[in-house]
Amino acid sequence: MKQQQPPIVFIAARCQESPQKRRGFTLRLEERQRNQWWVAEAILLNRETINHSTYPLIEIVGNFEIDPHYGGCPHCESLDFLQCDSCGRVFCWNGTQPVVTCPWCYRKLEVRAFIERLAGTLRNESGKKPQTLLQ
Ligand SMILES: [Zn+2]
Ligand SMILES: [Zn+2]
Repeated sequence: MKQQQPPIVFIAARCQESPQKRRGFTLRLEERQRNQWWVAEAILLNRETINHSTYPLIEIVGNFEIDPHYGGCPHCESLDFLQCDSCGRVFCWNGTQPVVTCPWCYRKLEVRAFIERLAGTLRNESGKKPQTLLQ
């Protein structure tokens, strides 16, 4: 029997190191178990273009873990990431700064606990058939 590929979600992110530069990248998340999301890869936008409009925008909830093979932010190599509690967007984090500037909305914010939900575009491994995850 063929094994099913885990659902894949792409989430637009930005590098927080120099917020003014708005350096973007895309996180690839895999749901390896129900409501267990793994950040598997960061993709540079100019290397692989992801057409976010082709796939439905969905909200994913659960626990978010970072794969041990995750290579970090393609711009500054930070291995962690955060979600802005003002605009909800995602950006890289070096794991030490207690106060950061969101590279999406430029608000200064204190680092808070865990990410519980994210919005991204869903597709399966073949990239052909979008699935509906939230019903
Ligand atoms: Zn970065
Ligand atoms: Zn923000």
